[in-house]
Amino acid sequence: MLAKDLVELHRQQTLEQFDVPVHLETTAERISFEDDYVVLHTNNPAHPDLESRTVIVAGGHGAFEPKKLPGYDVTPWEGRGAYYLVGSKDEFAGKKVLIVGGGDSACDWVVNLLDVADRIGLVHRREGFRAHEVTVKQVEDAAAAGLIDLHVPFQIRDVKGNGRIEAVKLFHSETDEELEVECDALLLQLGFKTALGPLKEWGFELEKGAIRVDSLFRTSLDRVWACGDISTFDGKLKLIATGYAEAAIAVAQAIHHIRPETKLQPKYSTNTGVPGGVAGQP
Ligand SMILES: Cc1cc2nc3c(=O)[nH]c(=O)nc-3n(C[C@H](O)[C@H](O)[C@H](O)COP(=O)(O)OP(=O)(O)OC[C@H]3O[C@@H](n4cnc5c(N)ncnc54)[C@H](O)[C@@H]3O)c2cc1C
Repeated sequence: MLAKDLVELHRQQTLEQFDVPVHLETTAERISFEDDYVVLHTNNPAHPDLESRTVIVAGGHGAFEPKKLPGYDVTPWEGRGAYYLVGSKDEFAGKKVLIVGGGDSACDWVVNLLDVADRIGLVHRREGFRAHEVTVKQVEDAAAAGLIDLHVPFQIRDVKGNGRIEAVKLFHSETDEELEVECDALLLQLGFKTALGPLKEWGFELEKGAIRVDSLFRTSLDRVWACGDISTFDGKLKLIATGYAEAAIAVAQAIHHIRPETKLQPKYSTNTGVPGGVAGQP
């Protein structure tokens, strides 16, 4: 399943079933504490102050930005053939795609675009990939079968084109030998830069750019919990699967804080039924 499909299913299962106010295009910039409420001060004039009895921070890595290519400025080619993200595989259909990078994302896209691209080249500046071994094997097998071109260890020296990218000049990392490759889509998969942004100033106990939480996902701030990638504790794994469980615990704790008389006990869909799952039932 693609991430966007997973997100859509989440949207249906949560926002469509429960009456949750959603504030998109809104950054929580500051936090303040009143007797009954925690207030989030936002950058959105339509709702500058959001009051709540508890807050759960699930801010991931904060602001997320793809890393740029070191050594060559690709910025002028952005929107003219240079990509950092794959919105839809269709964008690459029938194209000569040159993917740059040596990690999971680069290798994943080599494999995933094989069925749509006209031709795929993978450029990596050093020998050896830092990716899942199964994916690396798929990439190597595709190269051995002549389905893709591996340019390793190569780097980008120049991008050529008239309005849009038409070719990329590569150079060998050790010998400096040059090579020109036809290309109409240059997909840079060099990882992401992350920054906690405004959350850094809220007064949390931070550790390696994440919010330290205890086993109940409490932060060092009163009435504020944190879960998902933004939280850290011994043994932390930054995964979707672990994020789900962390969120369930944090929500249960926050609700228990608001209604201390309620038992900390999950409701199973086995007993309650999946909302909307049975005709005639809410
Ligand atoms: C390339 C890559 C591949 C991955 N592949 C997998 C995989 O195959 N399987 C897997 O389980 N995990 C994978 N992960 C990890 C997974 O993506 C994360 O664990 C997961 O997305 C974390 O979810 P989250 O909700 O905590 O944070 P995020 O998904 O990062 O969401 C955080 C949100 O909070 C917003 N935000 C931040 N600060 C503020 C603020 N001040 N105000 C308002 N909004 C704010 C951000 O804009 C963002 O929308 C991968 C990660 C990467 C980078």
